[in-house]
Amino acid sequence: MKKYDYLIVGAGLFGSIFAYEANKRGKTCLLIDKRNHIGGNIYCENIEGINVHKYGAHIFHTSNREVWDYVNSFVEFNRYTNSPVANYKGELYNLPFNMNTFYQLWKVKTPKEAMAKIAEQVKESNITEPKNLEEQAIKLVGNDIYEKLIKGYTEKQWGKKATELPSFIIKRLPVRLTFDNNYFNDTYQGIPIGGYNKIIEKMLNGIEVKLDTDFFKNREEFENMADKVVFTGMIDEFYDHKFGTLEYRSLKFEHETLDEENHQGNAVVNYTEYEVPYTRIIEHKHFEDGKQPKTIVTKEYPSTWNKGDEPYYPINNDENNEKYEKYKDMADKEAKVIFGGRLAQYKYYDMHNVIEQALNVVKNEF
Ligand code: FAD
Ligand code: UDP
Repeated sequence: MKKYDYLIVGAGLFGSIFAYEANKRGKTCLLIDKRNHIGGNIYCENIEGINVHKYGAHIFHTSNREVWDYVNSFVEFNRYTNSPVANYKGELYNLPFNMNTFYQLWKVKTPKEAMAKIAEQVKESNITEPKNLEEQAIKLVGNDIYEKLIKGYTEKQWGKKATELPSFIIKRLPVRLTFDNNYFNDTYQGIPIGGYNKIIEKMLNGIEVKLDTDFFKNREEFENMADKVVFTGMIDEFYDHKFGTLEYRSLKFEHETLDEENHQGNAVVNYTEYEVPYTRIIEHKHFEDGKQPKTIVTKEYPSTWNKGDEPYYPINNDENNEKYEKYKDMADKEAKVIFGGRLAQYKYYDMHNVIEQALNVVKNEF
């Protein structure tokens, strides 16, 4: 007899949803995480009464009603709408690319004028079938926007030339011919009132959790404890990198408390020129309309990932995806291990994708 039905590796969204749903069905779970807190990358720390997104800005958005109802069953959401501003060499532009941006760049006032300007630049570029992020971006919005708002940001974010990156990354951003600065096209959007920790704390109520505990330090012991393992860490590490190491992009966060009420007037300001070493400055209080006397800002610096660093983003180019497929073939044959989440599936998943996936896994499993 094993001690637990499930050993769950990782207390992020995927692991926490699985633990909650298993526990609800009377299954016993042990959840471990190598970090010293639950929540994975959505974890917030309360400083000066402000929920600080410790691992970068997290804005919840989805068009999936089931996912939206699910998260709302744990916490109420506010009506925050993400509208980042881009700073390029001291000039400010609205994001995503919309009529406000086009006016700021070209003084065009109508969708027709904006479309003509973009079409003219696309024609000059001679791009018909975009083969990489650079070509895809120019095809979508023309060369001016590419040069000022995309190239520098993208190349520092990923540490690669835009010509070496897959085009799907830029397709995450909407392009609109309306004066609408909403960064997402989704039906539902917001920030949990009181912060993301509330969701995870509710999910893990009554579940045995061990923090500061790395699966790989005692792998055999952990595997012998439970009938099944739910693994949300790096899939290549699970298989001892036998097909080679998958590439990730890491980040460094520099948090600062400032003795002023309102530093930048917006939650997110992107710095799109290559020469500024950070990609964005987050002012956390604006996610929840905070009125605290002080403010906390975070600079986000992209950095090279080396073993031991936090693997924030999978780099889903062809080479890495091919490697991942080999790991996936092995994973698909495992009868006693479930792989889930951003790292184990090696996918650039947002929170709603992870929740959708976790709920599907739960449906299959129970
Ligand atoms: P994680 O949150 O990474 O959790 C995995 C957990 O497993 C971690 O806590 C880790 O410590 C633990 N772990 C790994 N290996 C081991 C091991 N060997 N032993 C023990 N524990 C282990 N999504 C949005 O929807 N909106 C946003 O605005 C948004 N912004 C983002 C900004 C940044 C900078 C980043 C990096 C991501 C952003 N995301 C956003 C994506 C979001 O963070 C993820 O989709 C989601 O948090 C992934 O959940 P997860 O459970 O798969 O992984
Ligand atoms: N991007 C850009 N300029 C910006 C914001 C984003 O060129 O001001 C590009 C960049 O390549 C980035 C991608 O769009 O990696 C996706 O942006 P998103 O805001 O979705 O990134 P995330 O929040 O996931 O880091």
